[in-house]
Amino acid sequence: MEVVDTIKHQGQRKKLIEELNTMGIESKEVLNAMLKVPRHYFLDSSFEDFAYQNKAFPIGEEQTISHPYTVAFQSEMLDIKKGDKVLEIGTGCGYQTAVLFHLGAKIHSIERQHTLHHKAKVVLAKMRIKAHLNYGDGYLGLPNHAPFDKIIVTAGAPEMPQELFKQLAIGGLMMIPLGAKKQVMTLIVKTSETALKKIEFDNFNEQHFRFVPMLKNKQ
Ligand code: SAH
Repeated sequence: MEVVDTIKHQGQRKKLIEELNTMGIESKEVLNAMLKVPRHYFLDSSFEDFAYQNKAFPIGEEQTISHPYTVAFQSEMLDIKKGDKVLEIGTGCGYQTAVLFHLGAKIHSIERQHTLHHKAKVVLAKMRIKAHLNYGDGYLGLPNHAPFDKIIVTAGAPEMPQELFKQLAIGGLMMIPLGAKKQVMTLIVKTSETALKKIEFDNFNEQHFRFVPMLKNKQ
């Protein structure tokens, strides 16, 4: 069945964007980009009616679509500029990818679950969203395409993946949930080849920052 973006969906989406704004998301670019992406396109039809609630939902393979607030917050903190080369770890259903696209990013994304990788490819192509989607292990990044201006990790990593830090441009930013037991949303600023500044958003709207683990090795 063809999925359409009805007036009802558009209205619900507008409400969600207003909610994100009252929660502290201020970037007009981010709010506009999220207004353009029909989130229900990425969910099974059984969740369609819930697509515009500020919640995470299952997308299959025991994974979840990122929470709208998390997508907004990570995107805002990354300060995406038109033409930025962005590496995304954890394509999932492709929702965050679509938002990055509308922010003008050139996206390289990696997903370790083949079913999800494939599904995202199909839905993003249908939406005419351009992104390089890779099936593989995000811990390795994409050395052939480095350096990246920005890196966004949408799964929780126990510690900072060294390969990803290497592939970040100097002056580049990485948003990543870090921590073995409890994950803390962290902004990394790469100040030189070996140095970084870390800004932690501990307890910041905590209920929204919950991530599936970033897993080692492909299977
Ligand atoms: N931004 C996605 C979030 C999906 S959840 C969305 O909105 O749909 C996180 C994703 O990270 C999952 O799809 C999971 O399979 C993937 N993932 C976990 N470990 C990974 C790894 N090492 N490399 C690449 N992807 C990984």
